[in-house]
Amino acid sequence: MSLTWNDIAREFLRCFGQEPVWVVRAPGRVNLIGEHTDYNEGFVLPLAIDRAIWIGLRPRQDRTVAVYSVDFQQQKEFSLEGLQPSQDGWLEYLKGVAWVLGEAGYRLTGWEGVLMGDVPQGAGLSSSAALEMATARAFAAVSEIAWDPVRMALLSQKAENQWVGVQCGIMDQLVSSAAQAGHALLIDCRSLHTKPTPLPEGTAVVVLDTGTRRGLVDSAYNQRRQQCETAAKTLGVRALRDVTLQQLEAAAGRLDPVTFRRARHVATENARTLEAAEAMRRGDKHRLGQLMDASHQSLRDDYEVSSEALNRMVELARAHPACYGARMTGAGFGGCAVALVDAAGAEDFVRTVGPAYQQATGHQPALYVCRATQGAEARPGRLID
Ligand code: ADP
Ligand code: MG
Repeated sequence: MSLTWNDIAREFLRCFGQEPVWVVRAPGRVNLIGEHTDYNEGFVLPLAIDRAIWIGLRPRQDRTVAVYSVDFQQQKEFSLEGLQPSQDGWLEYLKGVAWVLGEAGYRLTGWEGVLMGDVPQGAGLSSSAALEMATARAFAAVSEIAWDPVRMALLSQKAENQWVGVQCGIMDQLVSSAAQAGHALLIDCRSLHTKPTPLPEGTAVVVLDTGTRRGLVDSAYNQRRQQCETAAKTLGVRALRDVTLQQLEAAAGRLDPVTFRRARHVATENARTLEAAEAMRRGDKHRLGQLMDASHQSLRDDYEVSSEALNRMVELARAHPACYGARMTGAGFGGCAVALVDAAGAEDFVRTVGPAYQQATGHQPALYVCRATQGAEARPGRLID
């Protein structure tokens, strides 16, 4: 069961002897399709999931932020005056957001509260972006800042880039900020235009964590980015977003074979992502599933960022009768796959695929059936019986 508004209000009550003034939540996410397209200024299609970071809070009169992390069982605090980066674990995400909001000219109010979440950490579901967006929402609530989802996502991305030091794109924060319940969010990573896109009726999205992580991700990721830049430069465009498969094929002679395949993934993946959004609008789950399958193949063969564990997980997922399509999701080399399944068969899917994967690989998987939820929200923190 996911956490609820009441769970957080109750936890605050336990710590402070009163109901919170505000409860905020910001969800984790999974990307349905559109992989390695973000830094090519292309399209992604993630959804916010029913696992989130939550904060119950009340304003303070001084310029201090004091937080109890239920999951880490740690009480920490910082002053809004003279913020300095340090190595203070989870608190750095809150400090980073405070810093970036201050830099942007917002006058912030201090607050105290409880922080808890059920987004698995480091599993590729972006618990860090959820924590940043929850923090931004908390500051917006107590400091009476109007909530502009795109602006707040950009500022939180800046916190992660510049304070925490992780070079992520805009997808994670933007979907955690701007998603609509029951919908995935088509994001144009160039314009940041977003379009809520309904999930087909009667389907469920399942995240399949392979239980594997790869240390090589960073260097391989940078190498892929480099290859994309080279391809774009050779083709005389600003980013691979501007290249169709036909244009690319016509220019094949000017690219070395590896760079060509990298660029082909990006061009076809952008086209698949746009087509996937159209298929969703028609409620065509079969076509959506096929596009996810094709995305995996392209990531495996052209972009070469899959792994044996991911390939095996995807194969086993597809072998289940409830599955419409499956693919690796995230940067690759390990981490999670995502599957679109018939909602009525989701439970059996999880019961079957998890053990089969464990049997085949010896790795410990984790499978999550996800609902598409609303992006970051704030509500008055009353306990409802
Ligand atoms: P992910 O892929 O989940 O985003 P990251 O390494 O980027 O993984 O972020 C994980 C970090 O975010 C954790 O180490 C912790 O500092 C913070 N975090 C995530 N969830 C929580 C939580 N429930 N409570 C406190 N901090 C959290
Ligand atoms: Mg993260």
